Amino acid sequence: MRPTPTFSFELYPPRNAEADAALQRELIPLVAAGPEFISVTYGANGSSRGVSLDVLRHLLHNTEVQPMAHLTCVGSSYAEASRLIREFLDAGVTSFLALRGDPPAGVAEEDVDLGDLRSAGELVQLIHNVQLEREPFLQHEVPGFPGAKRIASGRPVTIAVAAFPNGHPRSRSRSQDLDTLLAKEAAGANLAISQLFFEADDYLSFVDAARAAGVTMRILPGIMPVLSVARLHRVVQLSGEAVPTGLLRDLERAGAAEEAAAIGTTHATTLARDLLDGGASGIHLYTFNRSHAPLAVLGGAGLLDTTRIPA
Ligand code: FAD
Repeated sequence: MRPTPTFSFELYPPRNAEADAALQRELIPLVAAGPEFISVTYGANGSSRGVSLDVLRHLLHNTEVQPMAHLTCVGSSYAEASRLIREFLDAGVTSFLALRGDPPAGVAEEDVDLGDLRSAGELVQLIHNVQLEREPFLQHEVPGFPGAKRIASGRPVTIAVAAFPNGHPRSRSRSQDLDTLLAKEAAGANLAISQLFFEADDYLSFVDAARAAGVTMRILPGIMPVLSVARLHRVVQLSGEAVPTGLLRDLERAGAAEEAAAIGTTHATTLARDLLDGGASGIHLYTFNRSHAPLAVLGGAGLLDTTRIPA
């Protein structure tokens, strides 16, 4: 029988005290929903290190949800990246989304020092190496033999990586995206999370191609409920995705903000349903630190136990 599909959420580190208070409120229903994990983004070039870590610590110490730390490596030396990974592991985080990251906005790749780690795959390897150095082995009790210990290798870490169903903006071909994903798995990644996209077939055909190319890890589709025209333009600009003309037209026709939000939520819900029908093992929701739309999508997709959500 097919396992029950999972769901997970992405948060970003709040930028001020007011945003932090809002996040604490929104986290209550998000956590209560029972996600597989909650990931926390990492500001370009480490700009959000402390705040990201605060949110991860909050999840670790106050909830049962597994926190996942996004980490980027562009511009870092090996020593800096190793220190950063160690800091997160020391805080108790054992789940990572390893990313190369982008050079600062407006700066061409050729004009910037990209650092020692040239790709996400190298960061995946480094996370495994740092964890192995910290915890080379664990000692387990042997039942029935007091005092005896069984040695096992250290706690495994979950290392997710990014996947790009419609191609990374820097990629020259689909085969380059598939090769890059395969290389990340070969480096030790055990989960992939996709860039946002707007049509189920974008993801489903990419997964088929990835399987044919030899990728075996789970590939979770990333879904973003887009609740306004302004947000749609922004995410399309940031991700390099093509503008979804049908969704844009519907959002433009909406009168009030609530109407646009309902249209965006319905679009994301239909997408989630189509993905699950097509065989996706779960969905990862970009929340923008809000609970209403993501939970409505989960409800519409049949993944939410509403009795868990506080009134
Ligand atoms: P890589 O997989 O290493 O490379 C990306 C692409 O570059 C590859 O697909 C390939 O086409 C090309 N490429 C790689 N190596 C080579 C090479 N040697 N020669 C030629 N081409 C090459 N950014 C942040 O700053 N913070 C975040 O928290 C964050 N979270 C994200 C979460 C998700 C789910 C996704 C999809 C993206 C996120 N990003 C984030 C954005 C990400 O950092 C950028 O998309 C970045 O450009 C690529 O990172 P990557 O890990 O995919 O890199």
